[in-house]
This record gives sequence, structure tokens and C-alpha cells, in this order.
Amino acid sequence: MSKQILIVEDNATNMELITYLLSSFGYRVRTARNGLTGLQMAQSGGDALILTDVLMPEMDGYELVRRIKQEPALQGTPVVAVTALAMSGDRERILSAGFDGYVAKPIDPQHFIAEVRRFVETDADGDDSDR
Ligand code: MN
Repeated sequence: MSKQILIVEDNATNMELITYLLSSFGYRVRTARNGLTGLQMAQSGGDALILTDVLMPEMDGYELVRRIKQEPALQGTPVVAVTALAMSGDRERILSAGFDGYVAKPIDPQHFIAEVRRFVETDADGDDSDR
């Protein structure tokens, strides 16, 4: 069973690229165009990873990760920011906001997939017997 990944992103071009990359590598993809919809979809469960933009309408990525991490059922789901915010202060703010990781835009396909795998292909208990 391929892993399911939720993408939350308001930019159509970035959404298209991320969806294409993840689909190409065999992941099942769900998409939301703003943080509020993303939260509702995350609550429905089943995601091995949530990738989210930071600057979005309705609810931004900071609020989204805060709300996700408040939910016991979702606390174990990694939430990775995908953002063009690149100043050192931005990075610190992102990591201190509760995100499990950070991928910079513009997206470098090889680096992006390597980061996704790092979060998705390792079971919480550290063994790989059920892959
Ligand atoms: Mn955005």
C-alpha cells in the first residue's frame, strides 16, 4: 500500500510540481488550497506526511501546524514546511513553530524527494519489517 501524503499549497504552479513529483514516486496525494481545508483533511486521517506552504489564505502554515500538533491523533504525523522563506530568522521561526522539517522553494526535485523519503519511509518504531 503506497503511503498517502497531504499537500497544502495555495500556489497552483507549486501544487502541480509537488503533486507530479510525489505521484511519480508512487505516493498517493491529496491536496488542499488553504490551511483551513488542509486542517479538515488532515483530521480525516491516513496521511503519512503533511507538506504545507507557510503563507496561505484562510489559515497560514504556522496556524495549521499548531492546530495539527494539538490533536492527539495527529501528533505523530510529520508536518514539513515547503516555503520560499529563506532568511535565517525565518528558518528558526519555522522550526520553533512546531514543523518537523523544512524544504526550501524553489523546489529541487532530488532534494525534495530525498526529504520526503526521510520522513515517510521510516516507521515510528524504527524497524522496516512492514514496508
Ligand atoms: Mn503561499
